[in-house]
Amino acid sequence: MRHLSREAVRALQAELQKHQEIVLLIHHNPDGDALGSALALSMYLEQKGHQCCIISPNDFPDFLQWMPGIGKVRLAHKETDFCTRKIREAGFLFCLDLNQSKRVSLLQTALEQSKAYKALIDHHIDPSDIFDFTYSVTEETSSTCELVYRLIACHFNDADKITKEMAECLYTGIVTDTGSFSYHCDNVSTFETAGKLMELHINGEQIHRNIYDTYSESRVRLLGFCLSERMVVLDDYATSYIYLTKEDLQRFHFKQGDTEGIVNYGLSMKSVHFTAFFTERDGHIRISFRSKADFDVNAYARAHFNGGGHRNAAGGEFHESMEKAIALFRSTLDQYKNQLLP
Ligand code: 5GP
Ligand code: MN
Repeated sequence: MRHLSREAVRALQAELQKHQEIVLLIHHNPDGDALGSALALSMYLEQKGHQCCIISPNDFPDFLQWMPGIGKVRLAHKETDFCTRKIREAGFLFCLDLNQSKRVSLLQTALEQSKAYKALIDHHIDPSDIFDFTYSVTEETSSTCELVYRLIACHFNDADKITKEMAECLYTGIVTDTGSFSYHCDNVSTFETAGKLMELHINGEQIHRNIYDTYSESRVRLLGFCLSERMVVLDDYATSYIYLTKEDLQRFHFKQGDTEGIVNYGLSMKSVHFTAFFTERDGHIRISFRSKADFDVNAYARAHFNGGGHRNAAGGEFHESMEKAIALFRSTLDQYKNQLLP
């Protein structure tokens, strides 16, 4: 199939055979795609006789707690020495759903200095060149989970090794990265992959409920608060933004994952083409960007907020106050006015 030559696949397989233990590393604040791709790939590798260690820089949201195999994931913010050592001493390292080493936050130095053979599977724009093997597809691809499916089924010719549990993991990543099949999925391959996973008798409706219908009351009220008290619409720029301070988060008993998806509401107005969502974290401001059509938030996040991602969904960060982050955001809009207004 597309984007991987037979030689590249053979080289990857030959390298894999040299290593009994495989370390799989995913990005900070892992989402359904990062976890789903790592869990499914590890289950495949274990069938092939490898031992796997999945490492996440920090904790995952409660709504992914049900995922098959999730108990195996080691959390670097809790077991920092163990995880750092695993990465430094690894012989073979898979990085999943990330394009830059800074996406693994506290593990960045360990990743960069590791002598391991490093293989990347990812769908973000402009992957870093630190990898020995890169399977990066940004077009006509929903998610890293879709790429893991293609790697196993098409490139390794091992479709029969995809179990129901692996299918549940891969389907989760496709659902969460496409907002339940509403963006990043206008292509045949994504639906074909989802169809193949359905053939394994997964319960798509239950998976959807596990992800989207398990909020706490305070999470739902936080959403209401964002929309009524913290959303600003700038009609002159077809832009909106939402911001949450530390105090706001405390008031609503914030837990990781609670702000997931809120950014999309800022884009749900007909007149808005660009939106940003600012949340105050420990010592920095985290920002999510979303856009419609041609406005490129990957380029925007790279230019102004030390971030990146995809054309219509990206993230970034800012290491000063919320006021300054918002002021900077507002001050950049004028230069994009022509692109933003119809
Ligand atoms: P989110 O806003 O949901 O956190 O992220 C949107 C998309 O941009 C995701 O695909 C995410 O992986 C990517 N992304 C978020 N933050 C960053 C960042 O700081 N750098 C890069 N390169 N990508 C990011
Ligand atoms: Mn992803």
